[in-house]
Amino acid sequence: MARHERELAAGIDAVRAAARVCSTVAQRLVTADTLSKKDQSPVTVADFASQAIVCRGLERAFPGDPVVGEEDATELRGASAVLRESVQRAVAAELGGDPGLTPVLSWIDRGRAHADGARYWTLDPIDGTKGFLRGEQYAVALALIEGGEVVVGLLGCPNLPDGAGGHGVLFTAVRGEGARRHSLFEDTLLEGKPVSVAAVRRASEARLCESVESAHSDQDQSALIVSRLGITAEPYRIDSQCKYAAVAEGDASIYLRLPTTRDYREKIWDHAAGKLVVEEAGGRVTDVDGKPLDFRTGRTLALNRGVVATCGPIHDEVIAAIRQVRGG
Ligand code: AMP
Ligand code: MG
Repeated sequence: MARHERELAAGIDAVRAAARVCSTVAQRLVTADTLSKKDQSPVTVADFASQAIVCRGLERAFPGDPVVGEEDATELRGASAVLRESVQRAVAAELGGDPGLTPVLSWIDRGRAHADGARYWTLDPIDGTKGFLRGEQYAVALALIEGGEVVVGLLGCPNLPDGAGGHGVLFTAVRGEGARRHSLFEDTLLEGKPVSVAAVRRASEARLCESVESAHSDQDQSALIVSRLGITAEPYRIDSQCKYAAVAEGDASIYLRLPTTRDYREKIWDHAAGKLVVEEAGGRVTDVDGKPLDFRTGRTLALNRGVVATCGPIHDEVIAAIRQVRGG
């Protein structure tokens, strides 16, 4: 049996189910009206329902495994009954029957585990909530960490073009076994297509991708770094860990996430899955100082600042340019 085959299979089922929930909620609830009122309720419903579905799936497959999720049910318990019912309905629609509110809340609360111990999962039930609300890119991001190493990474990307006229791409990676691209919504167990980074050897030929949100990454600084590297291509701005997918597939060759404040620490669920997908596609991932991401420091990457992912050969050149622009 290939390494982590059962974990991969359970993760694929869980992410596919959660992605179906998110995209159903998006189609039903995200309207011009919610966007103009900046009403966050659709993303709240999808976020909780997605976490419930993934945690339920993992509980059935690996009852002893802790899950470090972005959400817990505290806020939902204190929220309006209408919101709770919407979450319960979204979960029930995916399961094909109403499990009742109590199990839904307890599945969500499974995501409260501490990020320590020999083995745990990290989950971002909707990464890129702003992209979700705009009808653009977002991801369901699930990873398994063992001994501080990411060993399985899954990115369900409901709005990425699938290459066959539709949408929905699933990226999977198992440490030492490569990265693959699958259809997200076609429920097949096919092997998937191997994914590899672009063969870019000079940073000047690279295309950069970064957050749409300037609050999440310093875009002024990235413009200076891009010009120092002699890059002429326009930056590719895209929400969520779809940026890691873009580097893994060669749509971009650099992903920069440059700290906007001194105190912010990256969350492990925002990076664990994406990092493994890029590395298994042949790329490199470090922080802005060129240090490896250290997943042994709890819910955040406490010892790291920002993130840099590249296709590999240009990594040191990119880190050097960052150092020149940022100083230090
Ligand atoms: P993105 O879609 O790449 O812009 O990133 C979305 C993620 O940014 C969310 O999941 C948040 O956890 C994270 N985030 C929130 N505030 C910040 C910040 N100040 N710097 C970096 N990331 C942030
Ligand atoms: Mg996130």
